[in-house]
Amino acid sequence: MSLEEDHRDHKENPKKRLPLKIKCEDLNHQNELVEYIFLKEKINQRTRLLCRKCVETKFSQQTNEIALIADILEDPYSVLKFTNYQGNVNQDLCDFIYSYDFKFNEDAIISQIDVIRQSFLYQLTKLERKLVESFQSFKEAESSLDVLKSKFEQYFDNKDLIKSLDDAEKKFDSFTPKDKQILRQGVNEYVKKLHFYDQKENHEKFQPLFDSVKANKQIFGNKEKQFRLFKFKLDQGLEMLQREIQNMEQTFSTQKFSSSELSTIYMDQLLEKINPDFKLHNIIQDKIQKIYNSRYDGLDSQNVYEKIIQLGRLDMQTLLFIFQTSSFQTFGVWVDKNSSLIFHQGKQQEFQIKNNVQPLKMNYDMKNPERLMTFGRDDIIILSSFVGCISKLGEGFSVTDAQEIGDKETYLANQKYFNIVKMEIFQVQK
Ligand SMILES: [Zn+2]
Repeated sequence: MSLEEDHRDHKENPKKRLPLKIKCEDLNHQNELVEYIFLKEKINQRTRLLCRKCVETKFSQQTNEIALIADILEDPYSVLKFTNYQGNVNQDLCDFIYSYDFKFNEDAIISQIDVIRQSFLYQLTKLERKLVESFQSFKEAESSLDVLKSKFEQYFDNKDLIKSLDDAEKKFDSFTPKDKQILRQGVNEYVKKLHFYDQKENHEKFQPLFDSVKANKQIFGNKEKQFRLFKFKLDQGLEMLQREIQNMEQTFSTQKFSSSELSTIYMDQLLEKINPDFKLHNIIQDKIQKIYNSRYDGLDSQNVYEKIIQLGRLDMQTLLFIFQTSSFQTFGVWVDKNSSLIFHQGKQQEFQIKNNVQPLKMNYDMKNPERLMTFGRDDIIILSSFVGCISKLGEGFSVTDAQEIGDKETYLANQKYFNIVKMEIFQVQK
């Protein structure tokens, strides 16, 4: 077989020769086969071929300089897809090629949409069942209301009122002053009943009835979660879903900030607002470099800490953080010494930093080892575990009245304590 044929063979059956039958040279990894290649220009060790264990231990901080050999065999131009060798034209080419994904083809689109459709139908059916169940409990509550109403029946009885009104109507053309008087009297009687249990005049009768209303309010209050249903929330839900689908549609066709997996077309608009140069796709690609993506780098606080610290002085950096929570909220922070802001992608709101507030503190001093990052004055606190993080929006970043955001502590994540499930960090070049 010639080399060329061999190569073609790989293209058709990319995983055919894997795993490579080459043992790792590390004496502690004797049972491991090599899978990766280390791409750093100058290295001390004899070999660049690494096994899974090497990558998990010795090289865990350098995953952005490691390529999977299987990937290279499948597509030689994918070798630099995770690296960031600035000033290297091969890197530029790989970035350029990698930003256009032809593997995500028609079949992939159809099957992906089908996955969304299926899980959407499943979720929707689940929601329907839950709401119908809630309605049963709502129905039970209605019967206890009927009991309460029966105690008040006589005061709301409108039979006499209806009769007075009917009688008056019948005499439309021959309405005498006497009829007028009878009608007035009828209406007055009705109103008088409504006021019968005025607290001052009929205190003794008033109190037990008042107590039974109060007791019902309490029972309802305790059960409120189960039975109060709002149609408008379903309407809002539909609107939100439509917006999200629209977002997907736009993302596929025109999104410029394509190196971010978490962002939608909103990020393009935000970036453009921050700097009009970002109107251009290639400027965004050149200037905004991904330095962390939890999908590949994991949610590893030590790793995040070191990646950011190695950039140098924090106050000289322009960084973009995007977080996604387990409650499906996506928000983030643009950190820059002149123009920091917090944004919420879905709600499309931005909160500018107040004067003399430090936008980002990494946990340098380890005084509070639980904390990994603090944005503003606790406006967002990301904990090392990424679990149970909190937000006090409005402390260091301003919230204006016009933004009408209600509860500032739950605004970003829709929860007071939130878990980060995905995260991207970008460095913005000057
Ligand atoms: Zn090894």
